[in-house]
Amino acid sequence: MNPSLHKLLLRQLRNYAPEFPAGPLERLLQAVSDSYAHYERDREILERSMIISAQELTEANQRLRGELAAGTEAYGQLLESLRLMEDLRPDLRETLDASQIRLPAVAQIVKDQVLVRKLAEQRLLRQEQLLQAVAQGLNRLLTSQDLDDALSACMLEVVRASGADLAGCYQWIAARQDFRPVFRWMSSTYTPWAEGHAAHPGWELDLLAAHHEMLAHKQPFLLTEDTEACPACCLLPVAAGDTFWGCIGFFQLRSTFVWDAAHLSILANFAQSTGGAIYQHQIRSELVQAKEEAEAATLAKSQFLSIMSHEIRTPLNAVIGFTHLLLEDQPRPDQTDNLKTLKFSAENLLVLINDLLDYSKIESGKVELEETEFDLRHLVRSIRQSLLPRAEENRTRIEIRIDEALPDVLAGDPVRLGQILVNLASNAVKFTEDGWVRIQVRMLGRDDTHCELEIRVRDTGIGIEPQMHEKIFESFTQANSSTTRKFGGTGLGLAITRKLVELFQSRIELESEPGKGATFRFRLRMRYVAAPQQPAASHQHEVQPAPRSLAGIRVLVVEDNPVNVRILAQFLRKWDIDRVEVARNGAEGVEAARRQAFDLIFMDLQMPVMNGMEAAGQIRSFDPHTPIIALTADAMPEIRDLVLAAGMNDYTTKPFNPNVLYEKLIRLVQAVNGAR
Ligand code: ADP
Repeated sequence: MNPSLHKLLLRQLRNYAPEFPAGPLERLLQAVSDSYAHYERDREILERSMIISAQELTEANQRLRGELAAGTEAYGQLLESLRLMEDLRPDLRETLDASQIRLPAVAQIVKDQVLVRKLAEQRLLRQEQLLQAVAQGLNRLLTSQDLDDALSACMLEVVRASGADLAGCYQWIAARQDFRPVFRWMSSTYTPWAEGHAAHPGWELDLLAAHHEMLAHKQPFLLTEDTEACPACCLLPVAAGDTFWGCIGFFQLRSTFVWDAAHLSILANFAQSTGGAIYQHQIRSELVQAKEEAEAATLAKSQFLSIMSHEIRTPLNAVIGFTHLLLEDQPRPDQTDNLKTLKFSAENLLVLINDLLDYSKIESGKVELEETEFDLRHLVRSIRQSLLPRAEENRTRIEIRIDEALPDVLAGDPVRLGQILVNLASNAVKFTEDGWVRIQVRMLGRDDTHCELEIRVRDTGIGIEPQMHEKIFESFTQANSSTTRKFGGTGLGLAITRKLVELFQSRIELESEPGKGATFRFRLRMRYVAAPQQPAASHQHEVQPAPRSLAGIRVLVVEDNPVNVRILAQFLRKWDIDRVEVARNGAEGVEAARRQAFDLIFMDLQMPVMNGMEAAGQIRSFDPHTPIIALTADAMPEIRDLVLAAGMNDYTTKPFNPNVLYEKLIRLVQAVNGAR
């Protein structure tokens, strides 16, 4: 009932019945009023109590009591689980712990806590994105070649995920005492300059300079309070190895920004890893530089060797050539010994120069084996042939034993194998008097493509003390100090031989006793080429008689050095070649070859006006057939390829071995005549 109506009624009743006490009257009115207020409810209860039985009422009451108990328990559990939450905000926990906490307050706590969780999840997601960006950025940094480009790409990846407005990577340039920005970035959605946050675009460099000392001591610099220049920034030092390289900066200009601990630790790790990657780059570029320097030094060394060998060989050519000619011109008996010593010394000097060149080439790993088809029988025979004069001087026989089963055509490097055999066989001849030297090739086995060979060079000479068996393979080592005096030599031959055998993936072995001769042996695995069907053809080169005379052929000698021309002309005359024309440089040579046809051209390589390579190229443009033999004082191994590439047929180094040169001439002239 309306309270004012209530008061009115009470006053009226007192007026009409003042004898009634006020308390009961008021209670009566309250009851009437309540019954009005609860009329609907009471009526419903009354009505329901009239239609439901007492038992039903009891059951309903019990159910209600049960539900109430369950509700109270659930509420208790809800409170309990909220209390168990570890990350519950402290103020929420206080509210929760208050004694009379009501349901709406609990609901508010749950709502607030959900918000806290959502924020934490967002932070975690950002951390994860930042971590991913850091991993990708570092990957770029490690795989890219150019450091500045790589740093920029890497930083871009990271700053986008960092939430910063502005970021940069700065290298400390000690010479200028200043930072060099390697990378600078500003968020496209933010224009701090326009808003006047920063006084000038280089402000962050000022900031870096101000904290340089701190950064140089590898301390990060964090600014979290609001300042006009930079509301929040995080500068992280970058150390490459042990030295301070520079720093990485992340700036947040929108509002005071606190970098949370997890973010900071990711960024600090990023700065550290960046330093590691920069260090790697530095080491890599130092290595590249060192390699380039080493290559330049090797090139200089090989050029030096080439020039020196050229310079020494040219006069040596004259010494050896003329000594040879003098010895063949029936010298007086008292002159013969001197001439022989002269020849011996000059030839020894030549061997030394050749060996030195070869050794340095092999040492620097510049020698690679080639694979061409060749006939090992033929190779061994020609080596024997070239050593015969020396063997005859020592009254020593040279025998060849070659397994019948050896395939006619092997695939390998005949030049290097020949060098090994020449070294071993010439040592054997050198150290054997009144005895024999045997070059033996045994087949140990074969499969469809390869055969296994053992090559032995055995002699009956002076032999080698057991304690020298290892030493003689070292460079410049001879078994006995009197060796050079008596036999000549440099002590390089076996060192080269061992390295060459190793290039063939094998190992050289020695058996020897003083006074009982020596046996050097090694095994080879070589590809072979299946023999053609006509067996008679396999030894054709041996049965074909070679015309031994060169009489009447026309020869052009292109050479600028008159001494060399004289030596060559004298040998040619001995071989009945008297139609010799001389050109003093490449250009004259080309002219002469254009004017007249020759059967053979000798071409010096280093000449004024036009060098031999160019001249040969020009001659080949109008004359594809005439054999051209390069004459060179340059004994570098690659000269052969250059000479062939220039269109020449062969080459001979000066000083030349007359017998070898004669064989070459015969072969070339014969081949061209055959082709014509
Ligand atoms: P060198 O130019 O002196 O011959 P090598 O390296 O070829 O240099 O040989 C080194 C030394 O090994 C020789 O000086 C010699 O003492 C010894 N030697 C090599 N081969 C034989 C051999 N067949 N018989 C005896 N001694 C040998």
